[in-house]
Amino acid sequence: MTDLYEPTDVTTKYPQPPFKAQQQPVPGSIFDMEPRPDHGEDSYTGSGRLKGRKALITGGDSGIGRAVAIAFGREGADVALNYLDEEAPDAEDTAKYAGDTGSKVVLIPGDLTDEAFNSELVEKTVAELGGLDILVMIGGKMPTVSGIDDFDTAVFDDLLKLNIHSLFWLTKAAKPHLKPGAAIITTSSIQGFQPSPTLVEYAVTKAGIANWTRAMAGQLAEDGIRVNGVAPGPFWTPLQPSSVPNEKIESFGEESTYGRPGQPVELSSTYVYLAEQASSYTSGETIAVTGGTPVH
Ligand code: NAD
Ligand code: MG
Repeated sequence: MTDLYEPTDVTTKYPQPPFKAQQQPVPGSIFDMEPRPDHGEDSYTGSGRLKGRKALITGGDSGIGRAVAIAFGREGADVALNYLDEEAPDAEDTAKYAGDTGSKVVLIPGDLTDEAFNSELVEKTVAELGGLDILVMIGGKMPTVSGIDDFDTAVFDDLLKLNIHSLFWLTKAAKPHLKPGAAIITTSSIQGFQPSPTLVEYAVTKAGIANWTRAMAGQLAEDGIRVNGVAPGPFWTPLQPSSVPNEKIESFGEESTYGRPGQPVELSSTYVYLAEQASSYTSGETIAVTGGTPVH
């Protein structure tokens, strides 16, 4: 187990390519990844930075969302996790770790491409947790589309609904419950700034998310609500073997300056930072966490 807090060479702190070839059907599972990603299960230690807060985390079953759920739970926040029905095994396992220091964890599966479900998700969260202070939107998809001949309107519509529309739907539903001091956090990507030729559709949504974050921060400032985002580089999560071909998996993360992918736990403190009250002067920002690769 890597010690999260011990000073060490950042380039060799976690697994490096080459990785074993592996593919999964969407949405993928952490249990079928080799090596298993590090979400902070055995390493993240909280210090009360989110004590008493109530957070809704989409994509909270696996990968980045799982790391955020564990960190938020251990920082003292009660959390509601959203994911797809078929991801129940990942979500139930995440709940064990997120709740292991006494925080309440509520599981609310459902499809974010369904507009009505987005408000249901917020209402259920508020009912179960007794309020909502932090909305963390991590759930997303990343279809590989090799060329313009393969552009598919239905695939793109579905992607827009999940990666973009749901930000509007969830925020609209959450707004009446958010009090001054609340925080909204989005998840963009390095792809939003430096797009790959075979991820054009996805990259457009991730650029849109960074733009949404800036604009919505301006809109909600008068309500005392902060809006920020995170732009991860390559992270070792089920999204990858379920979205990109094996030749990219085997060398995954090689293109980053560190020469390796990030592990989900390496994003935990960024999301905690954006959620906590101490970062009250930070809004409209998208923080790049890319293993040393300049983004902005
Ligand atoms: P992940 O597969 O663990 O998480 C994605 C989650 O999205 C799934 O767990 C699933 O619960 C959720 N999801 C998918 N379709 C859904 C739907 N229709 N309704 C509700 N939820 C749905 O992978 P991850 O890498 O942790 O991805 C989390 C976010 O991080 C995504 O938005 C992704 O674009 C972004 N991101 C990932 C990377 C990376 O390299 N892994 C890099 C940049 C950005
Ligand atoms: Mg998942």
